Amino acid sequence: MHSSDADPKVVAELARSFLALVRAESCGECLPCWHGVRQIAAVFEKVDNGSSLSVEELATVGELARTVGQGAKCGVGRIGGRLVQDLLSRYPTVF
Ligand code: SF4
Repeated sequence: MHSSDADPKVVAELARSFLALVRAESCGECLPCWHGVRQIAAVFEKVDNGSSLSVEELATVGELARTVGQGAKCGVGRIGGRLVQDLLSRYPTVF
């Protein structure tokens, strides 16, 4: 799927569903995963409600995702952070 063909609702739902899965699996042993994923999900709720993120919010989510992807102790958090980074870079217009 090309980023220009992407249905914003589908991409936002993909992000929401994946973050919900990571949150459910997060054991709380490390802060980047436990807290960072919740912070990202809180910002993405705005997209779920039909609004776009501001430039500052996008930058914050990108930084949080990078921190989670690099700083989480195991694959649950690392994959979660990297997937968010990937969605942001592939579908910038959705967010
Ligand atoms: S990254 Fe792994 S160790 Fe850290 S909170 Fe998530 S599930 Fe637990």
